[in-house]
Amino acid sequence: QRRKDCPLDKDEIGTATWSFLHSMASYYPKKPSKTQSDDMTKFFNIFAQFYPCEPCAVDFQEDIKKHPPQTDSRDAFAKWLCERHNTVNVKLGKPTFDCSKVHERWKDGWEDGSCD
Ligand code: FAD
Repeated sequence: QRRKDCPLDKDEIGTATWSFLHSMASYYPKKPSKTQSDDMTKFFNIFAQFYPCEPCAVDFQEDIKKHPPQTDSRDAFAKWLCERHNTVNVKLGKPTFDCSKVHERWKDGWEDGSCD
């Protein structure tokens, strides 16, 4: 059987990365300073250059050129990132996610208490 300490495949690295990015967005400041907002925009431009799946990175660079990071507030940023993930979902034929629930999924837990 496959050992547990193997290099991540495209899906594993994808899920791990989305987990990090959405968590970061849901904990991003509600009212970021100009510096924080500018830094987060830079982060995504750099991230898109070095994401370790080349065809994914090329498409993501194009996508964020068309839809630049919205980093003026937590809600705007989390929504923007959710929409970017949905663009990838559509490309891969996966269901889209309801972006009004992004903080429930990544910070607060579901409203029915099922994560408590
Ligand atoms: P994932 O898509 O990894 O999602 C993990 C969890 O996030 C889901 O279970 C769900 O609870 C939640 N979720 C789903 N959609 C959203 C959303 N819109 N907002 C918030 N939460 C959500 N793979 C390719 O094959 N080709 C590509 O071009 C490609 N590009 C990628 C670009 C980037 C920047 C990243 C980070 C990943 C990319 N991937 C790509 C990987 C791909 O997006 C998935 O991670 C991978 O296919 C595994 O999918 P999954 O069904 O396990 O769930």
